[in-house]
Amino acid sequence: MTNRDYPCEFCDTTLEQEEKLVTLTLNRGGKVYVFEGVPARVCPNCGHRYYNGPMITRLERLIREDALPGAEPIEAYRVPYTAVGS
Ligand SMILES: [Zn+2]
Repeated sequence: MTNRDYPCEFCDTTLEQEEKLVTLTLNRGGKVYVFEGVPARVCPNCGHRYYNGPMITRLERLIREDALPGAEPIEAYRVPYTAVGS
């Protein structure tokens, strides 16, 4: 765990962020990429996720180079909120 003496930039809590594996969705070039099991630090108060910058840059490069071993297409649905909202 990393000791921090600065607050979450979204909710100002100084509670320790939790290291978790999360699902990260990136939209690039009109395609949606869902990365599973991505390490992130999560604010225990507001849930904001903090990612390692170089890690994101690396994922973006792999997308650009179409070098994503283990990637498989999944079915997805796009739903306009106005269709389901009040
Ligand atoms: Zn927070």
